[in-house]
Amino acid sequence: MKKTVHCEQCGSIWEHGLEDCAKCGWDLRLLNRSKTWTYDIAHQQETVAEAVDKMYATLDYGIHKKYGKVKLIVGSGKIRVEIEKILSHLKFSKKIKFYTCQNKNPGAYIVVL
Ligand SMILES: [Zn+2]
Repeated sequence: MKKTVHCEQCGSIWEHGLEDCAKCGWDLRLLNRSKTWTYDIAHQQETVAEAVDKMYATLDYGIHKKYGKVKLIVGSGKIRVEIEKILSHLKFSKKIKFYTCQNKNPGAYIVVL
């Protein structure tokens, strides 16, 4: 069975992935506000630079799709150190609201968009 989304304004049901309700125009991406988009940026032998690119792409995707949070799996090595620096900078410049390590899992960051 295909995943569907349910328009909160008019009740229509659409195939998952549609961005605006084709009946009433309501922004279906708003349904993502309470959800977390998870992406692993560090477990396919990425270099630090590649992981940083993936991090930006993941944050852009999360922002475009209006997710409330993004979870970045960063592993435990150099990538994690670099991503932490960038997230700290993004928070300072208010591009993201907040970030934190996942409870008991230092290999993942939760970013609040
Ligand atoms: Zn609708």
